[in-house]
Amino acid sequence: MEKCHLKLTIGHLYPKQLNLYGDMGNITTLKMRTEWRGIEFEYLEINPGETICDADFYFIGGGQDKEQVAVSKEMFAQKDFLIKKRDEGAVFLGICGGYQLFGHFYQPFEGEKLLGVSLLDAYTVAGKKRFIGNVTAHTNFLAPETLVGFENHSGLTYLQGETKPLARLSVGNGNNGEDGFEGGRYKNVFGTYLHGSLLPKNPHFADFLIRLALENKYGENVELAPLDDSLEFAAHKSVLEKAY
Ligand code: GLN
Repeated sequence: MEKCHLKLTIGHLYPKQLNLYGDMGNITTLKMRTEWRGIEFEYLEINPGETICDADFYFIGGGQDKEQVAVSKEMFAQKDFLIKKRDEGAVFLGICGGYQLFGHFYQPFEGEKLLGVSLLDAYTVAGKKRFIGNVTAHTNFLAPETLVGFENHSGLTYLQGETKPLARLSVGNGNNGEDGFEGGRYKNVFGTYLHGSLLPKNPHFADFLIRLALENKYGENVELAPLDDSLEFAAHKSVLEKAY
């Protein structure tokens, strides 16, 4: 397919509320890795009070419990639209607090239970311990198979039904510090605890998501021209080496 006719539209959910530990770096990576290939990149911000727009790829970052309270109400009011987009194959990437709101609910240590949008069959409850540190994990769908990042959360996430883990942990606590897994996936919805930000140090996952969104949109195979990722994978390797 002619790449000059390709356009990727990103809907960034509540960036002023959920954008912890440089999660905006994920948007920058998606923008650069599409534009470097001559693919048009459209960025749409969705803020509180606004209707969630049509997009090929939705991103939501992480945040503290108090920011999640406001966002959960906004998203829950538009749950049906988000589930419709999921079932049409749109790509979703949620980081930490955003990931938690992709499930059925997040029960913080204090205060009300936050309703999620059930894009993933999962739920989160706050634990007594805060998990902070580097994370390395192994996927069964990427080459190289590793994903690296940084976690800082007290939420314990449990996956159910057709929602499967994103990766098997090597270092770190991941979803709940018990089952040895990190993140979750159902259809083209991906959630992960990996901040850092995630995609600059995991360019192979960024390309996987870009290709998934474009192939869902255009209904054809999309080949992405190779890029010089020596710097990106040097950063990836540095986390792998630091973590062990
Ligand atoms: N407030 C949530 C927790 O502590 C999410 C934190 C985050 O997004 N880093 O688990």
